[in-house]
Parts: sequence; C-alpha cells; structure tokens
Amino acid sequence: MSVERYDAIIVGAGPAGVFAAIELMEHRPGSRLLVLERGKPISERSCPARERSCVNCPTCAIMTGWGGAGAFSDGKLTLSTDVGGWLGDYLDARELERLVDDSDRTWLRFGATTEIHGPDQETAARLVHDATLAGMRLIPMRIRHIGSDRSPAVLQAMYDHLVEVGVEVRTRTEVARIREHAGVVQGVELIDGTSIDASAVVVAPGRDGADWLAAQARSLGIPLVNNAVDIGVRVEVPAPVMEPLTVPLYEAKLIQYSRRFGDQVRTFCMNPYGAVTTESYGTIVTVNGHSYAERRTENTNFAVLVSQSFTHPFQEPITYGTSIARLANLLGEGILVQRLGDLRAGRRSTEKRIAESVVVPTLRGATPGDLSFVLPYRHLVDILEFLDSLDTLVPGVAADGTLLYGVEVKFYSSRLQVGADLQTPITGLYAIGDGAGVTRGLIQSGASGLLAARAIAKAL
Ligand SMILES: Cc1cc2nc3c(=O)[nH]c(=O)nc-3n(C[C@H](O)[C@H](O)[C@H](O)COP(=O)(O)OP(=O)(O)OC[C@H]3O[C@@H](n4cnc5c(N)ncnc54)[C@H](O)[C@@H]3O)c2cc1C
Repeated sequence: MSVERYDAIIVGAGPAGVFAAIELMEHRPGSRLLVLERGKPISERSCPARERSCVNCPTCAIMTGWGGAGAFSDGKLTLSTDVGGWLGDYLDARELERLVDDSDRTWLRFGATTEIHGPDQETAARLVHDATLAGMRLIPMRIRHIGSDRSPAVLQAMYDHLVEVGVEVRTRTEVARIREHAGVVQGVELIDGTSIDASAVVVAPGRDGADWLAAQARSLGIPLVNNAVDIGVRVEVPAPVMEPLTVPLYEAKLIQYSRRFGDQVRTFCMNPYGAVTTESYGTIVTVNGHSYAERRTENTNFAVLVSQSFTHPFQEPITYGTSIARLANLLGEGILVQRLGDLRAGRRSTEKRIAESVVVPTLRGATPGDLSFVLPYRHLVDILEFLDSLDTLVPGVAADGTLLYGVEVKFYSSRLQVGADLQTPITGLYAIGDGAGVTRGLIQSGASGLLAARAIAKAL
C-alpha cells in the first residue's frame, strides 16, 4: 500500500495549528500541507450546554473541531506580552512584542473587530494606584474583543482561505501516534492505522489533547516539565458592580499573593455583561465564561484562580485538578453554584436561596451546593481573601448575593522541551499552543503557530 506524503502535517486546527498553516503557506506557497483535526467542521459544531446544560458529549463541541477552543471562545485578544502564555521564556521582549503584533494582525486580516478597549494613561495610572492600595497588582492592557458570536465566522474565513491556497484539511480525523526514526520525525499514524509521511510535523492539540501529547512525548523520550495548575471559582455579579473596572479596562487583570499562604491568586477571563458556561473534558465538567459582541446579559463574570505548582515527589498537577473537578461533579452532578454569603455562613445554597439572590444565574442547570466540600482549605482561604481585597477596590463584589460557580480549573499541560523555534529534540517535530504547555490564550497560541511555521519554511 502506498503511503501518502506531505511537506508538513499539522495536528489540531485550533488557533495555533491554523496560524501555523496560514503562515507556512505565506512563506512557502505551493507547499503540500495537511491539517488533521479530530473534531467536526465549524458549521457542524454545536454545544447543547449553550441552550440547556452540559450533557457530557463524548467529543466536546466547545473544545474540538475546526477552530479548536478558539472557535466559540470569548475572542478576547489581549494585546500584551505579560499574559496568555510563556513564549517570553523562548524569545526576548522585542521579539515577543513583534510576534504578538503579527498574531493580532492575522486575527484582524480575517475579520476581527478593529475596535480596541483599554484605558488612557491617566486612567491606567489611577487604577493601578487604587489597586495597590487594595493590596493588588493591576496589569492594564489593550484588548480586542471579537465576541463568541463572531469568532466562528473569523475561524471559518481562515478555513476558506487555507482551502483556497491549496491546503488539505481533514476533520473527524484523529492522530494516534507521532512516528519517528533515529531522532527525525517521519509523519503520523491515524487511529484507523493509516500512516502519513511528512518532513515536518506540528502538534497543536490544545488542552483537550494535552494528555495525549504528554504520552507521545514520553514514548518519544522528549523531556516534560510540569506547569502549575490553576483552580478556583467563577464569580458572577450584577454588571454595574464591576463597571468601575470594566468600563475603562473591559478586562481587569488583577494579581494578589495571598497573605495566609503566599499563593498567586488572580482574575481571569472577565466577561462584562456575559454568561457563565461549561467546559467538558470527557469525564469531567468545569466552568468557564464568555460574552457576546452583539448581545448582553445583566451580569459580569470572571474567574478567581489560585495557581499551584507541586514539588517532589508529586508530579501530576493535571490529575490533582481533575480530582477536584470530579469531586464537584460528584456532589453537584455537574457544576455547583453557591452564594458567597452562604459559603461564609457555612451552609449550602438551595434553589430558594439562589432565587432570592440579587444575581440571576446565567448558567442554567448548575446545582446549588456547598463549595467548601470541594475546594481545599488553602484554595478557599486564598479566594475569600482575594474577594475581600477586590471589594475594597470595587465595593459590592463580595456581597452575600455574589454567585460562585465551581470549579474552574485551568490545566496548563505539561510543557514539552522545545527550543526557541518550538522544535522538540526530535528533528522536524514542533510542539505549539496550549497543548504543548507553551501558551494559554488566543494571541500567544496563534503566535506560537507563526513562530513554528517560519522555522519550518526555512527548513523546507
Ligand atoms: C470557553 C472558552 C473561552 C475562551 N476565551 C478566551 C478568550 O477570550 N481569550 C483568550 O485569549 N483565550 C480564550 N480561551 C482560550 C483559547 O481558546 C485557547 O488558548 C486557544 O484556543 C488555544 O489554541 P490551541 O490551538 O493551542 O488549542 P485548541 O484551540 O484547543 O485546539 C486544539 C485542537 O486540536 C484538536 N486535537 C486534539 N488532539 C488531536 C489529535 N490527536 N488529532 C487531531 N486533532 C486533535 C482538538 O480537537 C482541537 O480542535 C478560551 C477557551 C475556552 C474553552
């Protein structure tokens, strides 16, 4: 049987893989390029949780398919080198700035909004000052907000472009194994046993495929480094409460080192007038949030996450995060929701107490319960301390009626050993995006694709 052969294969069609494909075709038009994606085409992706609650689909439509987790993401492009990944560990500050700009330009080229949110210098300085007095560090940044309603069209435009320039795309096609011989990549093997050859393979499987990639790295002898795991809750408040921050900043990135444990606690993914949503990782469901460009709810939501790295002998941060999410799922048959006042009073929330709350939950189907049965003492203390500090900056955020959904877990995947061009020790094998543990956001995941594609274009 003849084996198919390509110049390059990209595994995973999230922003990292898609940007790698776009950039490679810019630098090497006419290349034989194959993109393999285990999920569905974007037009066939639909999530029941957006209408009802998560039904644990075997393949999560939010996380997999053309566009990856980026397709239905909130589409907030944070135009800063300070957040969204660890590419700064491989590039100097100027190089990373340029790459972030290039990534932003690529989003723009395919239809991202030209509008940018961000404070003027005077407002930024005042907010930083106020945050400092509240014991927090505020990172002001510019944000381009595509919106989860517009993101699919942007990713679809990228698909149309790639097909037009001759890239072969196969959806519903899962890669089982990366093939290597004598330290040089040979291609991939699909789950149906088909082998496909290529001179370069770019793996971009996202958080959904992080465990698979870590297993591949182990079998290929590529060293792995554990990243931290971020565990916390999604907070939902009436939108006007957060307006002192969301009007000038849109998204407020706040960091605090907790007094009791010295842990890093931070806000993440703030969605003014947005909705709380769920995210399925096969056997567990976690909470997340998004907002629309064209529609508004009454509430603003954001995550408060505690970042934790483990020391010897424990080496399984992902298993740790998964266990906590599983515990929440066990107690709540999915996502738990609790009023902050009930958590403080040491009692569970009930349907009645939630109904009496000022905040009307935007996530349907979450079970009123008690997060103190789920979150470790350390995380609970860190989160409550953080909310109290935030309340001095934005009065009302730590009110009794504030809703906490649990749990939100960010798995940052084990990081594969890669060089400055994101090539692994296996010649021709590049590991990019969230699944490789080098990024954790749309701008940097796209940027990692650009970086790898430029290196491959040179090598080809
Ligand atoms: C609900 C939600 C909202 C978000 N909002 C924002 C935001 O506003 N701003 C921001 O910066 N970031 C946001 N993010 C994060 C952002 O979406 C990710 O950082 C980004 O999508 C990572 O890109 P990636 O290409 O590395 O991986 P992904 O987008 O996860 O794509 C990986 C793809 O690889 C495929 N795959 C996995 N394994 C295989 C295999 N073996 N064979 C073939 N295909 C495979 C998967 O099906 C998936 O489609 C959000 C994420 C979620 C879930």
